[in-house]
Amino acid sequence: MSQFSQDRLESLTNSLLQPTSANGVHARTGLFEQVIDGLSAAITARRESGTEILRFPPVMSRALVEKSGYLKTFPHLLGCVSCLHGEEAAIRALVEGQAKGPDWLNGLAATDLVLTPAACYPLYPLIAARGAVPAQGLTFDVASYCFRREASHEPGRLQSFRMREYVCVGTPEEALAFRKRWIARAEELAQQLAVPYKLAAASDPFFGRVGKMMAMSQVEQELKFELLIPVNSEEQPTACMSFNYHQDHFGTIWGLRRNAREVAHTACVAFGLDRLGLALFATHGLDLKQWPASARETLSV
Ligand code: AMP
Ligand code: ZN
Repeated sequence: MSQFSQDRLESLTNSLLQPTSANGVHARTGLFEQVIDGLSAAITARRESGTEILRFPPVMSRALVEKSGYLKTFPHLLGCVSCLHGEEAAIRALVEGQAKGPDWLNGLAATDLVLTPAACYPLYPLIAARGAVPAQGLTFDVASYCFRREASHEPGRLQSFRMREYVCVGTPEEALAFRKRWIARAEELAQQLAVPYKLAAASDPFFGRVGKMMAMSQVEQELKFELLIPVNSEEQPTACMSFNYHQDHFGTIWGLRRNAREVAHTACVAFGLDRLGLALFATHGLDLKQWPASARETLSV
């Protein structure tokens, strides 16, 4: 039977990601983190030379996310940081539950921060602030805890999860060649990890009816591929890595230019670390000693 049994999935999840009272928000166990550390090191070992490393916090500027277009395309997934504003007495009354009528939530007001939705979003404005893109292009290694307000919470669909990415800024040819190299490297990594996988053209979960058309066009133009590994079932494997060609989307928004005429194109490869970890345990079980030698070697576990 290819649908993994509910008991097995539950025992896996509880040994690796312990639930909290919030859906899709988990504590990670030592066993799980050992594999995540191994995965991070394996991804680092495959880094191309000349790549600049940046690590981002789990929050970023709301204005930058608005400008990036995320708010229009994924408003249903975005989380905004809200805080209590006002006079001390009013705040005290709210938090101590003494306010007449509505509770403390009504004292909240949006701040200038949102929760980082993808590890590469804070990067583009940062590059733009540096001026023209050098002739040889740029590559980055970025990572962030990301938030998405997911509507369902099956194993592997978290609200708060870690994303590691490599990003290329260059000509269309450079961006596409970068993506091609990373698809090959990712397939090789999946083979070394001894997990069953497939590669498929994919789309992002764009918002609403217009979003459905955007998703269709994305698949048609092969702008996104995903590497899928079974977590919940073999019929519906889970996207654990994605390979994205943004064309001139970010280049145009952020004014990333190689010279006066050419807008830079961008591509990114994203590794969903928590999903990759879950996929490994779903495939090989909870006892690391029983894992295939090539997987143990690749992860140093
Ligand atoms: P995306 O930007 O949607 O291509 O996401 C990049 C990678 O992050 C995906 O391939 C997943 O591995 C991971 N990811 C995306 N959404 C979630 C989620 N809700 N929970 C856990 N991992 C996720
Ligand atoms: Zn990205």
